[in-house]
Amino acid sequence: MRKKTNCDRCNNSAFVQATTDLILCKSCFSFRVEKQVRKTVNQYNMLHQGIHIALGLSGGKDSMVLLHILSKIIHHGSKITAIIVDEGIETYRPEGVILAQKYAKKLGIPNLVVTYNDLFGLPLDNMIIKSPFGKSSCAICGTFRRKALNYGAIKINADVLAIGINLDDEAESIQLNLIRGDTTRFSRLSRKPQKLHPKFVPRIKPLVLVSQPEIVYYALANNIEYHEQSCPYSAQARRNSVREFLSDQEKKHPGTLKNIIRFHDTMLEQQDHMIDIAVSNINECQICGDLTDNKELCMGCRLLIEMKVEPKSTD
Ligand code: SF4
Ligand code: ZN
Ligand code: ZN
Repeated sequence: MRKKTNCDRCNNSAFVQATTDLILCKSCFSFRVEKQVRKTVNQYNMLHQGIHIALGLSGGKDSMVLLHILSKIIHHGSKITAIIVDEGIETYRPEGVILAQKYAKKLGIPNLVVTYNDLFGLPLDNMIIKSPFGKSSCAICGTFRRKALNYGAIKINADVLAIGINLDDEAESIQLNLIRGDTTRFSRLSRKPQKLHPKFVPRIKPLVLVSQPEIVYYALANNIEYHEQSCPYSAQARRNSVREFLSDQEKKHPGTLKNIIRFHDTMLEQQDHMIDIAVSNINECQICGDLTDNKELCMGCRLLIEMKVEPKSTD
C-alpha cells in the first residue's frame, strides 16, 4: 500500500485505498460506488421510469446502503417502500427493526413491517425449537424470508423487489448451488429481473457488483448507522465455509468474485433454456398458494407441518 494522504482524483484528504493503485476521499469513493450501482442497474435492466420498488430492509449494512443509494439514483416519478421482515429472533432482530425504521423515516421512505409470527403463526425462535429436521436455522429462516418479502411486495403492489445482495453474497450463492448441483437455483440466480410467475415479484440486486468491504466503507463515508450485531444462528450456515474459501481466493487473486459473476452471466446467456427449466418447475402450493418447486406443498408449509403448526393461506 502506498503511503499517501490525498485523493488521487480531487486532492482532498484520503479516505480509502479503493484499488491497489487508487486512493480516494470520501466523496470520490462514494461517487465511484454509486456509479457502479447505476452501471449495474442499466446493464441488467433493473429499473424504469415510474417503477414502484419494494426494498427488503433489515437494518444491516447492505440493505441500508442499498436504500441510501437507490433513493439517490431512482428516476423521477419512481418510488420506494421498505419492507422490514421481523423473523422473530428475540435477542437480535428488534434493534435491526428500530434502526431500519429510523433510517427509512429519515429518508422519507414509507415502510411495512411483516412478521413471521403474523404470517406463519410462530416466530423463528420457536420454529427452530420445533423443527425436527436436520435443517440449518438459516435454511428455515431463508425459506420464510423469501415468502415474507414476496408477500410484502405484493401487498404494496410493487413492480420489483430490491434486495441488498452484494458481490460476495452473490458469488457465494453461485458457488453453493454449484456444490449442491442445484441447476434450478443456479439458473434462477440471474441478475436480470425475471418475471417467473404472476405471484412472484421479480427481484433486483443493484449492489451485486459492489464488494462487502466497499459497502462497509460506503456506510462509513456516508454516516449510515446500521445494525452490526451478528444473528445468533448465523454460525450454523453452510455458506460460512464457502465465504471463507472465496474470501481467501479474492485476497490471493483479486477479481475472483467478479469472475464468478461473469462466468455465471455467460452461462445463463448461452443456456437460455435453463430459465425455461426454472419456470417449468414452478407450481402453486396446495395450502398457502405460494410458489414452489414441489408438486404439492411449498417448503414453508412442509416445515410448518413437521413443526405441528397448521399452515395457513398467505394470499
Ligand atoms: Fe436468518 Fe440465518 Fe440470517 Fe439469522 S443468519 S437472520 S437465521 S438467515
Ligand atoms: Zn476526491
Ligand atoms: Zn405453502
